[in-house]
Amino acid sequence: MEEYEKYISEIWQTGQLTNNGPLLREFEAKIREFLRVENFQYVTNGTIALQIALKALDITEGEIITTPFSYVATTSSILWERCTPVFVDIEPDNFTIDVDKIEQAITQKTKATMAVHVFGYACNVKKIEEIAQRHHLKVIYDGAHAFGSNYQGKSLLSYGDITTCSFHATKLFHTVEGGCCIVKDKEINSKLDLIKRFGHNSDEHFCLGINAKQSEFHAAMGLCNFPHLNEIITERKQISLMYDELLENKFQRPKKHEDLEYNYAYYPILFRNEEHLLKTFEALNAEDIYPRRYFYPSLNTLPYIKNKQNCPVSQNISSRIACLPLYVGLENENIEKIVNIVRC
Ligand SMILES: *Cc1c(COP(=O)(O)O)cnc(C)c1O
Repeated sequence: MEEYEKYISEIWQTGQLTNNGPLLREFEAKIREFLRVENFQYVTNGTIALQIALKALDITEGEIITTPFSYVATTSSILWERCTPVFVDIEPDNFTIDVDKIEQAITQKTKATMAVHVFGYACNVKKIEEIAQRHHLKVIYDGAHAFGSNYQGKSLLSYGDITTCSFHATKLFHTVEGGCCIVKDKEINSKLDLIKRFGHNSDEHFCLGINAKQSEFHAAMGLCNFPHLNEIITERKQISLMYDELLENKFQRPKKHEDLEYNYAYYPILFRNEEHLLKTFEALNAEDIYPRRYFYPSLNTLPYIKNKQNCPVSQNISSRIACLPLYVGLENENIEKIVNIVRC
């Protein structure tokens, strides 16, 4: 709070609350440097980041190949932009989109692939890129979980035509609400910069825009949290390793690619079946412990999806996966308590 108040009094001094103020510029510069990317747009949330990514790439209709195993925003952003999500099932070992099934889902109408680095684990970016090149598709990654993960020596957020991230309060690194687009192409980046602020420069209007600008207050929160990032990742790693040790491989976990420097964003475990999960949740809830069914349901089964597609791997995993509590300040005795219940 002290750190935040210092920034807030700066806002009172500059008198600028939003519209590309000094704190926002400082925040963007720091994140750009940390991620080692050139083109970075800080926006209001990770959902609008996905939507304006589609807009900036001129994808206003057609089919988008995507994963059913994600948070609902991955699918809803496609639908909201009047495109059709085409679900491709996931790999059973790390729960990212199954690249061997992408090509058979491509049609004349396919415009892009929107894959997710789920829980901060890397998609098969090389194969996705290769398929995209062969079929002239755009590649968008929903990197909402991937801040702080590095893959093959660079930020996992630096792949694809555009990668988005979320800085929502529940994420590893947050600015209360917030998100961003990391963009490969300079021109697309300039377009996004216009789109996020109504598409105009003073009285000159260039393109259809929306309001996805961030405020000084959100940037201030980001500037407060950013210096703690290493501690946050280190502590999450320690908690994850303690879970590993106490759980003794009793539960299947996503497999980490050897070239991935993981950010320890989540601690997902697979139960034997849904019944086992629900029983364990009941026991945990009785002790005031609330893990999350992350992700459930499988997005191909959402009631507002018109063309029902079967994704057996995703549906199976969704029905029995949960993320155990993982946050800075989680005490060892509580980790032991959680594990004792989960192992029953
Ligand atoms: C959180 C999340 C989003 C949405 O981000 P918001 O900032 O909450 O809008 C999108 N995709 C995934 C995978 C997420 O976990």
